Amino acid sequence: MTKPVKTLCPYCGVGCGLEVLPPALPGKPVNRDSAGTPIWRVRGDQAHPSSKGQVCVKGATVTGALDKDRLRYPMMRDSLDQPFRQVTWEAALQRVVRELKTVHANQGPDAICMYGSGQFQTEDYYIAQKLLKGCLGTNNFDANSRLCMSSAVAGYIQSFGSDGPPACYDDLEQTDCAFLIGTNTAECHPIVFNRLLKHHKKNRHVKMIVVDPRRTKTAEKADLHLAIKPGTDINLLNGIAHLLMRWGKFDSLFIDECTSGFASFAGVISQYPPELVARACGIRVDELEKAARYWSESQRVLSLWSMGINQSSEGTAKCRTIINLHLMTGTIGKPGCGPFSLTGQPNAMGGREAGGLAHILPGYRVVKNPQHRQEVEQAWQRPPGSISSQPGLAAWDMILGLENQSVGVFWVAATNPAVSMPDIKRTKAALLKSRFTICQDAYYPTEMADYAHVLLPAAQWGEKTGIMTNSERVVNYCPAFREPVGEARADWEIFAEVGRRLGFEKEFAFANSAEVYAEFVQLTRDRICDMSGLSHDLLKNGPIQWPFPACAVGDTIDATATGKRLYTNHRFPTEDGRAKFSAFHAKGLAEAPDPNYPFVLTTGRLYGHWHTQSRTGRIEKVAGMYPNPFVEIHPRDAARIGIQEGEVLEVRSRRGFARVPTKITKAIAPGTVFIPMHWGALWAKHAEVNALTHPEVCPISLEPELKACAVQLIPTKNL
Ligand code: SF4
Repeated sequence: MTKPVKTLCPYCGVGCGLEVLPPALPGKPVNRDSAGTPIWRVRGDQAHPSSKGQVCVKGATVTGALDKDRLRYPMMRDSLDQPFRQVTWEAALQRVVRELKTVHANQGPDAICMYGSGQFQTEDYYIAQKLLKGCLGTNNFDANSRLCMSSAVAGYIQSFGSDGPPACYDDLEQTDCAFLIGTNTAECHPIVFNRLLKHHKKNRHVKMIVVDPRRTKTAEKADLHLAIKPGTDINLLNGIAHLLMRWGKFDSLFIDECTSGFASFAGVISQYPPELVARACGIRVDELEKAARYWSESQRVLSLWSMGINQSSEGTAKCRTIINLHLMTGTIGKPGCGPFSLTGQPNAMGGREAGGLAHILPGYRVVKNPQHRQEVEQAWQRPPGSISSQPGLAAWDMILGLENQSVGVFWVAATNPAVSMPDIKRTKAALLKSRFTICQDAYYPTEMADYAHVLLPAAQWGEKTGIMTNSERVVNYCPAFREPVGEARADWEIFAEVGRRLGFEKEFAFANSAEVYAEFVQLTRDRICDMSGLSHDLLKNGPIQWPFPACAVGDTIDATATGKRLYTNHRFPTEDGRAKFSAFHAKGLAEAPDPNYPFVLTTGRLYGHWHTQSRTGRIEKVAGMYPNPFVEIHPRDAARIGIQEGEVLEVRSRRGFARVPTKITKAIAPGTVFIPMHWGALWAKHAEVNALTHPEVCPISLEPELKACAVQLIPTKNL
């Protein structure tokens, strides 16, 4: 192979286009890492519409872990206290099928759970839905996206009648004001931030507001940084809306013709005068007024958000409150504006399209809608009533199901809940109680593997061909450019093989992933996420943004909505074609600080690192950027508790503790501390941030409040 293979970066939802070349090229030295291992070359794809050739350190180094610590063969053990033994695929599959049949017969379909991942390709997601929801009769498929963007999904569905981010990346270069709330875009979505920053630097009139309790790398570039107290986002958003209302800066025509529910929204925001809001948020009134002024003076405001909004016990309410501002100002469905949630993972969007959460079905359908269930049953040629009318267990509910032993089979694929779930001590205790756990992954060891009875080796990025959709709805063909290591297989192939062995031969009679994709896209026909015009063959020529072809929005076909933006005709897929205002009061943190636990812990990501480090921890360059976890603390708090830079601090919550070196910085506000989320037990002992977090979830999206909890701080020298 001498021609570059075009594909998508398998890390974050920005979805940058990459070109991959083998380690050895004619006339060039072999590309090797510091240990001398040949590694594939990577560069940005200049022709990719989302990234235009740019790539961050993660994308540039991604091939560094293709061969490191790979799970090459199936492994099994009878109980968790035994060592694993290598087995054949035949033996492993026989056991998986036997356990599935036994649990299905004895405890019923809802005792079977699968927990998947935004690392899946769309074909993996789709086949998993067909197996669990269509054939086994349970909706117990959830993904780590539940911990990431399910609040945004719920917010879009409730406000617009459908999921789907309305904006696109070109809006980054067309906006007058970027409103970034609960997102450290510079570190977590670097190429999106580069595009925005360039536009901001070039155009003096363009404003950037960043709302974050920390002075992050994103906040450093802002015209206005609002360092609000954790959990006060709704106060702030309602406060901005209050001022816009007071100043008459709203779009009454848009409100009258395109929305419903404005009166009750107006009633709520009238209760958020600036003085009250500023006090609640811990900012000055003039700062709040400046933010509202930037909104009011900008024709086109683009809101970006991610985990700081979504990972909250009022996550859906926060998303909807952001959307309120856009409905109030009519800044949606036009260039340079709109509410735009940034997804964390490379194919979390594909998961949404394929029905990859416990309450949804392929094609942006929902489990609770009888017509939607019927449409999917017909497409899958399954008898009426095959799909349960009950939404399945969401991520944390699966852990509770293990705890009370109502779950009999727990199948985890491409994710590491033994690090990423909240209240990790309780999570691990529940995992230990599991009757039968399958861990399907590309890497070994991982923290999750410690809790598995069977390990199934999965082919990873570059070893299987499939489709991924990025945050701006751009659909990408991601081809295999090398053979899977050892005996690894694509996730969808494993699911399909199990399905056939369970007796569903015709349902899983696919020769390749192109056939899987061809079946899936038919389920999107005439839905807002219409991809029925797409195929592997077409996408081989380059990425395409959905809807493709046109999309039916509300009661009209909006031809201009093909690609780029949704809702350009200002009709929404609700019963009356109008977008809905919501009226939420601020509730604050689920666990507020108190005299016993006086500090608020906030969590987040670091540039270069990714999730629980299953891949990045094995790539020297990125692992070395932040080799160890740390806790950020304000100098005043450090002096008060008597801790010096670098000394180890024990951070305690009601659920556990983490011991981490101290980093003293004014980037964090007094009363708040920050610990990054990337370190599990494999990488650092007693430094797991989720030993501290609690599992309180948003009642609508069921997303846990991983972002904040109350803690106390004790220097270990005092213990
Ligand atoms: Fe990959 Fe995200 Fe970096 Fe782009 S910004 S190269 S998608 S990690």
